Amino acid sequence: MTPSLLPVTCLADILPIYRQTPISLLLEYQNCGRPFDSYVMAKLLVGMCMDNRKVLRIPDNFAYILRAGGANLRRAEFKVSFAISIGGVRALALIAHDQCGMVGLTARREVFIQGLVAHAGWTAENAARHFDERAPEFEIANAGEFVCTEAQRLRQDYPKLVIAPLFYRVDEGKLYQLQECG
Ligand SMILES: [Zn+2]
Repeated sequence: MTPSLLPVTCLADILPIYRQTPISLLLEYQNCGRPFDSYVMAKLLVGMCMDNRKVLRIPDNFAYILRAGGANLRRAEFKVSFAISIGGVRALALIAHDQCGMVGLTARREVFIQGLVAHAGWTAENAARHFDERAPEFEIANAGEFVCTEAQRLRQDYPKLVIAPLFYRVDEGKLYQLQECG
């Protein structure tokens, strides 16, 4: 099921669970034009897609950022743990986005293989094996639903962390809160 997008245009739109947390600050910087504060230590960890069309408007030192296809943090747990334990962050924003290339990946298997052959110098056989072995780990059916599921998974592992599934609209450059179900 596709989670609803809850827009943020002012402070009052921010869900109560995120107020007084770095999630609120992220939403205020990105959507509400909040002037930049100065930071010595990071406050937030952001997990977001590697997609080139996404730009965050945040001050220096405010956030650690992990980027991976589809904001998929599987196999990135050590880096999450590092950002919390040594980096000192207390909140995690998981940012999905529209037009994500990790949605419908299987349909582009041939393009992927041909691209690696043409531009990386791979054999078609190795490129096909690479895709078949790794694509299932990254393919997602619904970007918003995926980060909600990831948020629930990561809350089990990091129960003291505030974890927010968010959604970025590429054409607007704005963040939305995702209404989690269940
Ligand atoms: Zn993406």
